This record gives sequence, C-alpha cells and structure tokens, in this order.
Amino acid sequence: MQFKELIGNEVLKGKLASMVDEGRVPHALMLIEDDGWGGVALAIALAQYMSCPHKEGGDSCGVCPECNKFQKLIHPDMHFVFPVNVTSKSGSEKKPVSDTFLPVWREMLLKNPYFTEEILNRELGIEDKVGNISVAEAKEILSKTNMRSYEGGNKYIIIYLPERMSQDAANKLLKMVEEPFAGTYFLLVTHSPEKVINTIRSRCLQVHMLPVETSMIQDGVSVYFPIISELLSNCISKNLSAMLDQNEEIVNLGRERQKEFCRYSTSFLRKIWLTKHGLAHIANINQEESQTINTLAKAIPEPFFEKAFNHFEGARGAVESNANAKMVFCNLTNLLFVSI
Ligand SMILES: [Zn+2]
Repeated sequence: MQFKELIGNEVLKGKLASMVDEGRVPHALMLIEDDGWGGVALAIALAQYMSCPHKEGGDSCGVCPECNKFQKLIHPDMHFVFPVNVTSKSGSEKKPVSDTFLPVWREMLLKNPYFTEEILNRELGIEDKVGNISVAEAKEILSKTNMRSYEGGNKYIIIYLPERMSQDAANKLLKMVEEPFAGTYFLLVTHSPEKVINTIRSRCLQVHMLPVETSMIQDGVSVYFPIISELLSNCISKNLSAMLDQNEEIVNLGRERQKEFCRYSTSFLRKIWLTKHGLAHIANINQEESQTINTLAKAIPEPFFEKAFNHFEGARGAVESNANAKMVFCNLTNLLFVSI
C-alpha cells in the first residue's frame, strides 16, 4: 500500500516519510488508532516506503517488485501478528497462531484496509471468544526475528492489538523489542495503549493517528458526494443512460480530481457498508452525507460492495497510468451497472 492510497492522516504520513528519509525510524513504533482508521494499512505503507528502492515525493513507487510484494501482502519479510483463538477455521491446530489464519487475514485486509476488530473477529470465526496473542505466538515471532531476512533487507513485524498479548508472551518478546537485530522493525497498532503491557509500551515510540481528516471529508463531500450518490442511485434504479450522462461531469474533473473522486467513492462505499452492518458510529459520516448513506445502505446488496471497490480501484489505477479518461469512466459505469 502506498501512503497516497490511504485516506487522511496527511501530516502523519509526511512525518513518517521524513523519519525514513532521515534514518530516524525507531525499532519499535506504536501507532495509536481507533477502530476503522486504517492503522495496519498505514504500518504496511510505512514498511513499503522503507523497503522501496525507488521512493519518490515521500511515497513508495508502487510498481517495483518490492512494492508489488507489499501490496499483495506477500512480502516474505513482513510478518503479521494479531489476536487469534481456536475456531473451525484453525483446523486441527490446538494452539493456533496468526500464520494459521494468514489467508483470511490477507483477504480481509486487501478488501478493506479500514477493517474493524469486529470484522476481523467475524472473518476469523471468533465472534464468541476473545482473541489473544499467546506464548506460542511469541515463540513464532522470535523464530522469525532470529532468521535472516529472505530478501536481505529489513524485516517487519506488524502487531495488531498488542494489548491482547499475555504477560508471558510479552516477557518472551521483551528483549527482542528492546534490542532487535539491525533492520528488524516492530510496528504495533493499538486501540488502547494504556492496556499494552508496560514493559513493551515503554520501548515504543508512540504515534497518534487521527480520524480521516476533516478537510479531506469536507472537500470530498462538497465536490464528489453529489456525483457518487447520484451515480449509485442511478445504478440501483438500473438507469444506464443517466449513469453514462454523468461521465462527462467526471471526465471534466481533470486527472488529479478524477483520482480523488475514485478515492472518495471507495471511502463513501465503505461508509455505506459500515452503516449496513450497524457500524455507522465509526464511519466518520458527515451530516450532509448521512441521510443518503442510510438510504443507500438499505438499497445496495452486499455482493456489490466488493465488486464496486475493485472497479473504483481499477479506474483510479487506469487514470494513474494515463489511460483515456472517457474510456476509463465509461468502462467503470458499465462495470458498476452489471455488478448491482
Ligand atoms: Zn517501489
């Protein structure tokens, strides 16, 4: 994930990039976020930026082989740790660790970088249990940090919700977090820093994230909200010609704003999706958007969301690689129409 793909936290992204540029990234960094703010995605973007050999303008290039592996979440030197428990999805393993659930985790994260704890638990099948980061997990982490990095570069251990780590697991990890091998970085993403075991917390540089920035929301709301809400309404009522009529408006935005429009649209879809799942309170919904979002949440069928996310992402990528805007958005319209 590139920094620019993530919505909001512009100031923080700039600060993180300068830390990298100036060689000041601490070996243990703790991002403090709230549910749904995209902390894990930001940690990945940071790791990708650190490892990309073609950084430009405070962001990774997004196209080199390194970036490619980060974007698919398959970089062999990026390890994920998150609270787990025994479930039907953990198969026969008695003490599942994060790696047991890696395919589920990747799929969820790629689908929705702003996932919430509740969404994760549902995907893991542990709604009725508490996930935790166990001693078995700590042993896994230690063996990974003791191995050479596969690609000869940095190694990243991204720990989601370190507040779920048991005392024993924390004791095991402490020395490694305190004095990791050169090139090993612990990137922690927490919702409750005060609940993270003190010995671990005190070794981390703490960085506070913000909810999606107000300015971005307002800009998006005034310019793009009318377009996307009308586009979705026309889509629901199967009015293809009205949808195609809207294309001109989008094409006239110009390249940069077209990309922003796509980004706003995916965040707008995310808000609708969260609302549909009773999570409107964490969706950062603006007053102006509220009523439309409620209406759309009722009208849009579940399978549409993932497809639409992908279509908007595809359109943004195409605009980025200088494809003809008219064709890109005509194609987008058609894809949305057949996906509803
Ligand atoms: Zn790159």
